[in-house]
Amino acid sequence: MIERIVAPPLGANVYLILDEKKALIDVGGDFSFIHRAISKYVDVRELDYIILTHTHFDHASATNDLREVSKAEVMLHEKEYEFAKVQNFSSSFFGIDFPSFEADRLLNEGDEINLGKLRLRVIHTPGHTPGSVCLYDEDEKIMFTGDTVFPNGGFGRVDFPGGNPALMIESLKKLTEFDIEVMYPGHDEPVNNANEHVKISLKFARMFL
Ligand SMILES: [Zn+2]
Repeated sequence: MIERIVAPPLGANVYLILDEKKALIDVGGDFSFIHRAISKYVDVRELDYIILTHTHFDHASATNDLREVSKAEVMLHEKEYEFAKVQNFSSSFFGIDFPSFEADRLLNEGDEINLGKLRLRVIHTPGHTPGSVCLYDEDEKIMFTGDTVFPNGGFGRVDFPGGNPALMIESLKKLTEFDIEVMYPGHDEPVNNANEHVKISLKFARMFL
């Protein structure tokens, strides 16, 4: 029901969720790649939602093309959409074209995205970017963590525009309050015993940030 797709250009994880609603968490930066990859599982026009954990180009620059072809609703945190308008659409910071996209639903802390069996709660976790989010299902105890937290003590970089070390520590602390069995990170392999991984990330962040 959850398929992991590793997307170019930087190996960001895209998760395709095949529930009553079909949702993609992040899209990567290469439209034709992701279109092909999704088509192995589902007709792209059946995609209901595109949910962005944040708007770095390696996770999000294929959004506009995919939205146009699939007619899926694009959702992201309200602060991240503001951030994208200032940073990503206008700059060639990474030397990569990032076509601007329309958002269909702006998310906030505590919002719920109902996919059928999975109901994803929006957890606002700024630090890597101002509107980064993690998405949590309380029944399944799974969390999609974007570039906020990675396995084995990793966490997202805070030295890009919009990054903030103090907020990163706050966000990691917030995540230790959730009961998480499986973490689906924005890079790297998903892991079990996610609570332990998050604790180590918080410890490392406090040591190094
Ligand atoms: Zn990122």
